[in-house]
Amino acid sequence: MNCHCAQIVTPGLLELFDARQRLIDAATPINAVENITLGQSAGRVLAETLVAPLDMPGVDNSAMDGYALCLADYQAAPPGAGLPILQRVPAGAGVMLLPEGGCARIFTGAPVPLGADIVVPQERVTLDQHGHIHLEGNLVVGANIRRQGEETRMGTPLLAAGTLLGAASIALLASHGISAVTVKRRLRVAILSTGDELIPPGAARSPGQVYDSNRAMLNVLLAQAQCDVLDLGVIADSPASLHQAFEHAQTAADLVVCTGGVSVGEEDHVRPVIEQRGGLHFHGVAMKPGKPFAFGYLGAEPFSSTPLMALPGNPVASLVGWQLLALPFIHAMQGRAVAVLQRYPVKAGFSQRGPQGRCELLRVEMDWSQGAPVAQLAGGQGSHMLSAASQAHGYLMINPATEVTEGATYHYYPINQFAA
Ligand code: AMP
Ligand code: MG
Repeated sequence: MNCHCAQIVTPGLLELFDARQRLIDAATPINAVENITLGQSAGRVLAETLVAPLDMPGVDNSAMDGYALCLADYQAAPPGAGLPILQRVPAGAGVMLLPEGGCARIFTGAPVPLGADIVVPQERVTLDQHGHIHLEGNLVVGANIRRQGEETRMGTPLLAAGTLLGAASIALLASHGISAVTVKRRLRVAILSTGDELIPPGAARSPGQVYDSNRAMLNVLLAQAQCDVLDLGVIADSPASLHQAFEHAQTAADLVVCTGGVSVGEEDHVRPVIEQRGGLHFHGVAMKPGKPFAFGYLGAEPFSSTPLMALPGNPVASLVGWQLLALPFIHAMQGRAVAVLQRYPVKAGFSQRGPQGRCELLRVEMDWSQGAPVAQLAGGQGSHMLSAASQAHGYLMINPATEVTEGATYHYYPINQFAA
């Protein structure tokens, strides 16, 4: 347990890392796959382990612009005679035979001629008046030759199933001549905001109304997570409206994510409606912000139904719940290997009271002006205060009943780890 706070969390709340692990364990990876071109594959999850169709490099080739020769020929030449240049090998040339008693002018990436056992970079070569080469420096057989298959042998694993395809992995596949890949189908995620007070940005606002920022945020987060979004809009705070929305969502999507209405107030109808339509795995996580997080399912059977994550209404709580809990579940459903959370120790640049009964994730900026990084509060820490969240570089995690003391060290979780 990462938080070391199981004994001091509020009874009834699940410890954060316990909740995260339960979500990861509960996710059923999607089976459906599709074949797409390499050019369309950025951000997709490889559905099969690929083996190398070729040796890489495909042939012994030069790592430098210089001269390819047989070192013994050079050493056997009369003192001061050097070697004549009898061949020219540009990149793209076929494999040639090194002419006896001479050397080859060669360029980076060009096949090393058969019979040559060293490439000497041009910076270490001088030419005499006969056009013969003379070499300087330490000469070692094999130097500056990239050997056939030294990186990968044909038939050995290239990329594992579950790999997220990015620039380097796509380039790797391209370097092997692969132009199409089988990837997992994109997840279809239904989102909805609950709340009678919510109106869309752009509409005129009356007192008491609140612009729906959670859906704006979730649309971005889901796009970053390579999911297709079914946006069901704002749903009124009534059991009937929620039933209707969930009915649609559970048949049309692989996963449902809603926000708001999941606390324990009279206007919070999400939990009872989930219980009527399916069931709850858990509700309430010992984290601040983000406590009213619920995980359940819609449909008769837990394992053949549509999973649902209910995020808190407060926007920062929703964001943190997404990053720490919803995202690993989605990655597991996508068939991706779920990354371990990255954290490292950082000093706090401030003191304040610690949280009670749950872990607190303070939104902080990193101050590098003193050489070593120091975490400073990025702004107001209310779970409704998006300004600090929009400035923050990461979260400083404070365990329950732990004071924050300036100069003391806490776990820092960089936010950029949640971007992809
Ligand atoms: P709730 O969990 O529904 O009680 O909402 C908690 C707080 O979050 C209230 O102040 C809501 O107005 C606010 N809230 C709920 N949903 C959203 C949303 N989609 N966008 C912005 N604020 C919201
Ligand atoms: Mg509400």
